Amino acid sequence: MKYLFAILLAFLALPAGAVEQTKGSFVDKFRQLEEELPTPNMFRNAAGEPAPAYWQQQADYDIDVRLDENKRTITGSETIRYSNNSPDTLRYLWLQLDQNKFHRNSMDWLTRTVEDPKRITYNDLRNLQFIDEFDGGFKIATVEDEGGRPLPHTIIGTLMRIDLPRPLAPGKNIGFKVDWSYNLVDNESARSQRDGFEYFPQDGNDIFLMAQWYPRMVAYSDYEAWHNKEFIGRGEFTLEFGDFDVRITVPADHVVSSTGELKNPGDVLSNVQQQRLKQARNAQHPVFIITPDEALQNEAQRDDGTRSWHFAARNVRDFAWASSRKFIWDAQGYRQDDADTPFVMVMSFYPKEGEPLWSQYSTQAVIHTLEVYSRYSFAFPYPVAQSVNGPAGGMEYPMITFNGPRTELQEDGSRTYSRSEKRFLIGVVIHEVGHGYFPMVVNSDERQWTWMDEGLNTFLQYLAETEWGEDYPSRRGEPRWIVDFMKSENQVPIMTNSESLLQFGNNAYAKPSTALVILRETILGRELFDFAFKEYTRRWKFRRPTPADFFRTMEEASGVDLDWFWRGWFYTTDHVDISIDRVTRFKVASHDPDVEFPKQRETLESEPLSRTKNSNAAEGRTTREQRFPELMDFYNENDPFTVSNKDRNEFQEYLESIRAPLDADPEWRSKALLRAIEEDKNFYMMEFSSPGGLVMPILLQITYTDGSIEMLRIPAEIWRFSPGRVNKLIARDREIATIVVDPYWETADVDVTNNHYPRQFIPSRLEIYKDETWTSSLPNRDLMQDIKTELDSGEKDVPLRVETPDQ
Ligand SMILES: [Zn+2]
Repeated sequence: MKYLFAILLAFLALPAGAVEQTKGSFVDKFRQLEEELPTPNMFRNAAGEPAPAYWQQQADYDIDVRLDENKRTITGSETIRYSNNSPDTLRYLWLQLDQNKFHRNSMDWLTRTVEDPKRITYNDLRNLQFIDEFDGGFKIATVEDEGGRPLPHTIIGTLMRIDLPRPLAPGKNIGFKVDWSYNLVDNESARSQRDGFEYFPQDGNDIFLMAQWYPRMVAYSDYEAWHNKEFIGRGEFTLEFGDFDVRITVPADHVVSSTGELKNPGDVLSNVQQQRLKQARNAQHPVFIITPDEALQNEAQRDDGTRSWHFAARNVRDFAWASSRKFIWDAQGYRQDDADTPFVMVMSFYPKEGEPLWSQYSTQAVIHTLEVYSRYSFAFPYPVAQSVNGPAGGMEYPMITFNGPRTELQEDGSRTYSRSEKRFLIGVVIHEVGHGYFPMVVNSDERQWTWMDEGLNTFLQYLAETEWGEDYPSRRGEPRWIVDFMKSENQVPIMTNSESLLQFGNNAYAKPSTALVILRETILGRELFDFAFKEYTRRWKFRRPTPADFFRTMEEASGVDLDWFWRGWFYTTDHVDISIDRVTRFKVASHDPDVEFPKQRETLESEPLSRTKNSNAAEGRTTREQRFPELMDFYNENDPFTVSNKDRNEFQEYLESIRAPLDADPEWRSKALLRAIEEDKNFYMMEFSSPGGLVMPILLQITYTDGSIEMLRIPAEIWRFSPGRVNKLIARDREIATIVVDPYWETADVDVTNNHYPRQFIPSRLEIYKDETWTSSLPNRDLMQDIKTELDSGEKDVPLRVETPDQ
C-alpha cells in the first residue's frame, strides 16, 4: 500500500549491539550478521537461496461471485483445492477472513488510539460513526467437504480454523467449499481502505473495487508454519500461489477489470470492443476499447439484467477485480523477449473524473514500469497488466492495480490537472504495477516485513521515475531526501514488524529504498549490485524469501561482505554523520641545518609581534642597546638560526649513523627515512569522527593548491577498530588546499557543516530545498487551468510562464 500514513505512539529502541560492558564501551559495527539470521537448513541455505528440500503449499480456487449493486453486497461460493507439499501432517487448516477487520469488535477498531487527548480529528469522528452503523465482516454460510458434509470451523478475528476429519498427509491434497457474503465498505465513510465502493452522486453510479473479497488460505511455510497473524491494517498479506477460475456476475451494463485473462469475451463484449482489443495488440499507442463518449452513454443507462465475466489466472498469489459502468477503457499490447510471456495486454480503466490525465499517462506508465522493472529483475510473467482508477492512494494485486488521482472539474465543464496530480498518477502507477513483481511474484511476507516489498519496490520505482523524464520529481530514493528522517526522533529499525513501525512511509519505503540506492551507487557499484539484485529476483521468483535470504544473496552474489551495511541500515536507527575534525600537515625533519634553520627562522618571523614590545615602540621607548650600541656583540649579529660548522658536522654524523645503522636497527628503517628526507613530501594527518554512529565509506574530494582535484574513497572498514573516531595519514607531493567529505551527498550525511576542512559557511539544507522544484511542499496549483484562463481571455501572445507562487 502506498500513501497511507499515520503517527503511532513513541517507542524508544536501544541500538543493536549497544550493550554496556565492563571493559570499555566498544561497539562492533562489523560483527557477523549470522547471529541475527536464522540457521541455514535444507529448505533455504546459507547462500540465501532455496535449498534442494525447499517446498511451498499450493491453493487453487474455483469461485462464483455475485455483486449486488443496489444492496452493495458480495455473495460468493468457492471450492479451494489445497495441496500439502510440506513434510508435515496437517490436522487443521487456517483461512484469512480479512473483511472481519471491519467488524466492530475487530482488533483493528478496538486498538485504534487517539494521538491528542484534548481534540479529535474529522477522521476520528468519521471512523467512530462508520463503525457504529456498519455491519461489516464475512458472513460464512457454509463450510463443507467435497461430499457436502459440514466441516467444523472456528472464527477468531480475521482468521478461521477448519478442523479436518482426517489429517492431511504430506503430498496429499484436499478440496472443500466455503459460501459467504459481506457488506461492501463505503470508501467515503471509511477512507484509505483497500476495497469497497465509491458512489458518484452526480450520475448515481459506483466504482466497485473488490479485494480481500474471498476467504483465502493462510500461508504455511518452512520457517513459520501457519502465518496466523491478525489483520490489523498495516501489515498486508501473506499468501500462497495457485490457479484461479472465477466467474463474476455483475449488472449487465458493467465493465469488469480483473486479475487473469477473460475467457468469455463473446458473452460480455460487443463485436466492436473485441475488434478494438485485437487492434490494440499491435498498436504503438493506447487504443480505446470504450471511448469517453461511450462511457458517458453507459453511465446514463440502466440494464436490469446481469452478466457473468469468466476469468482464469495461473500461478497467482491473489485475485482482485473492479466493476463499474463508468469505465473508459484503453489498451495497448506490449511484447517482451521472454519465452513464457512474450505478450502482455496492458490496460487502463477510469471514469471521466480521471480525464484528461488518465488516457494520456496511465497505460504508458504501466508499459514503462514493465520495461524498467524487467531489466533489473525478470520478464513480467503474466499476460495482463492493468491500472484501474480507485478512490484513494494506490493498491496492488496480481495483474491489476487500483490507483488514486482524479482531475478537477472547471466551471465550463472541462477538466484539468495540477502538476502534483500528474506526478501522483505516474508515480503511483509505477509503484503499484511494480508490486506486480514485489511481492506478487517475489512472494515476501508483507504482514511481517513491509520493507521487503515496499522498500525494494520503491527503489525500482525511483529508477523507473528517473528514466521517465529528466526532471521527474521523485519523492524517495535520493540520499539527500532521507536526511530529515534519519535525524528525527521516535524511530525503529527497518527490521521491525509491519504493525510496530513508527513513521511508516519513511521507515518502510524511503529508508530501505535509499539504502539500496547507496548500496548500488556508492558501496558496491552498479555492476556488482545489479548482478546480485537480479540473482535475488531469479532465486525467489514465485517463491517465498525472508529478509535473511535477501541479505545473504546480495552478499554472496556481489562477493562483498555487507554485514556492517545490513546492521547499520536495517538493524539500527543510527544515521550517517561523518565529520572531518582536523587536518595537520607535517614534513619529515631532514636534520640538515642549512634546510631546517632557515625554515625555523621563517616560522618565528611569521609570528605576530609581542603586544608589549609593540606598545613600547608606539610610545617611542628605545632600548638600552639602541642607546648604547657598544653593548651589541656577536650574538646580536647572528640569530640562533645561524648555521655553524659544528652544526654541519653533526648533520654529517647523523647521516652516517643512518647509512650505517647499528646491528639492532633493521636496514629498511634507514632506507625509509632517507627516502622520506629526499622526497620531502607533505604528510597530512586527517582526523575523522562519526557522531551519527552509522559507519560508511569516507568519500573525500581533495583540492590541491595547484587547482588539481583528487577523489579518495576509503571503504567503511576503516571504522572497524574505532567506530567513533579514526585518524588517516596520507603523503602527497602537492599541497592540499581543501578537503570535502561526501561532496556529492551520496551517503545521506545529516550534517554537512562538518564535512569541510577548513570549515566553510554552508547554506542550510532548508534553503537548498526551497530552491529545488521536486519538493512535495510546492503549492498544488493547477497550472493547466491558469494557462487555460490566460488563453481564454484572448491574451494569446502571453508566453506561458511558471511564476513563483505566493507562499
Ligand atoms: Zn506499495
